[in-house]
Amino acid sequence: MLTLSRRHLLRAAIGSSAALGIALGSSASPVSAASSADVDVMAEPMTTDRVLVAVDAAKPGSLSTAVVRGPAGKALGKATLSATGKALVPVKVAANAETTLTITVLTAGKNPTVGFEETITVSTQESRLASSIWRVVNKRLPMGADEVPEGLETVAGLQFHPAAAVSFLVFQEAALAQKVSFQAVSAYRTYARQKTLYDGYVEREGRDAADRYSARPGHSEHQTGLAIDARASDDECTLDECFEDTPEGTFIAQHAADHGFVIRYTKGNGGHTGYDPEPWHLRYVGTWMARYLKESKATSLEEAWGLPAAPDYGP
Ligand SMILES: [Zn+2]
Repeated sequence: MLTLSRRHLLRAAIGSSAALGIALGSSASPVSAASSADVDVMAEPMTTDRVLVAVDAAKPGSLSTAVVRGPAGKALGKATLSATGKALVPVKVAANAETTLTITVLTAGKNPTVGFEETITVSTQESRLASSIWRVVNKRLPMGADEVPEGLETVAGLQFHPAAAVSFLVFQEAALAQKVSFQAVSAYRTYARQKTLYDGYVEREGRDAADRYSARPGHSEHQTGLAIDARASDDECTLDECFEDTPEGTFIAQHAADHGFVIRYTKGNGGHTGYDPEPWHLRYVGTWMARYLKESKATSLEEAWGLPAAPDYGP
């Protein structure tokens, strides 16, 4: 399972056109018109009991709807393919367990038939979830204090999820080629480190103010290793909203998707995330997903991935 996932992560990280990662050890069993090369499917856990299934059809015209079924053929969710043949199907599965999903893509037209079918086994167990590139951590969905993503990589003194490390380096290189220079100021953080930071902010400014810009321990996306705070090399507007208007902030906003990143906290999604805008906070989701999100115009991961909004820590 892990080996296969890593293969996917690598493909996503290098941003190949097949970044969706077909392999994943699944048994593709194409039916009728569509061949196995026509549809890519990927499934990754988002939470302890939710999985996100992504479908990408190379010939969207001939296919219409993606349907995801669980054990015993139970329908868990479906979505209509976009004009470019893409769909996301978030599904609820057994908590902390392996589930076998059957993904069927129906043909277009009056009497739809099965155009493509593939079976994938996906795990929401902690060991797998902690490294998922589609893990969601927010004010309602925490990580355990002991959860650590596998294979953290150290670059320039900071630790990163391996997929995010490679992609950020490539992103930096692409920027340098345009004479734009930025670095990571913060990446992976342990639960303990987050607790120290958050407690310090609370002491200084009070809990309500701290909650607008800092996560309580266990709720920081930085614990996934997929979040990176970027700063301009000249240190202009570091960790400040004015970063958005610097050449570095502008470059990042324009090109993040091509390197697999989204800006997680924006002016438009505070109602979903409960944070003030952070134009410097990048979240790795893989190139395919980042481009999909950009096209879809979804305002937050929560919205795009069918999860409840997390504006606060709840009752
Ligand atoms: Zn951050």
